[in-house]
Amino acid sequence: KSAAFPVKKTLEEFDFEFQSSIDKKVIEDLATLRFVHNAENVVLLGPPGVGKSHLAIALGIEVAKAGISVYFTNSGNLIERLKLANREGILEKKLKGLMKFKVLIIDEMGYLPFDEEGAHCLFQLISRRYEKSSTIFTSNKSYGEWGEIFKDHVIAAAVLDRILHHCTTINIKGESYRLKERKKQGIKT
Ligand code: ADP
Repeated sequence: KSAAFPVKKTLEEFDFEFQSSIDKKVIEDLATLRFVHNAENVVLLGPPGVGKSHLAIALGIEVAKAGISVYFTNSGNLIERLKLANREGILEKKLKGLMKFKVLIIDEMGYLPFDEEGAHCLFQLISRRYEKSSTIFTSNKSYGEWGEIFKDHVIAAAVLDRILHHCTTINIKGESYRLKERKKQGIKT
């Protein structure tokens, strides 16, 4: 089933001891995929390098292993494609196409802000998936900062309202794993 993960990352490879701000039980519960059957969402928040994408991909791999359709994309790419579809008058078709996937992973929410059209397209996508299928997000911005991603605070609130109604939020704190690896190699940072 279609996945398109940029790299392979598994739950077994994740060092929960290094990342003590994560409750392993919560991740294990997500790995049961009950959230998928209940059409709930998952949001992984935290600074760069703390393992948000790793966990999103690892959960995605669990979904694929269970024979459930999953699709991975980053927010910038997704929004560009939705905007293109909007201009061609085929946004509805495109959104319907994305409903094929029981789980949609949207990586890196917030690295680039959305313009008005982009925010509109994302709102349409979230509204359509609401209570029907799961979406996993990663973001380096806290919920309070999501207004900035959308510029329009009203749209941001409407999107968040739908995402958070049935959602597990994982707030990851701490140091970048990449930094730790560099330190281990004795490279000055
Ligand atoms: P983020 O999405 O939060 O910016 P990534 O998930 O891309 O961070 O993690 C950066 C790199 O560090 C990846 O190669 C990832 O596999 C690795 N990594 C991060 N946290 C851990 C961890 N706790 N255990 C093992 N590898 C980790």
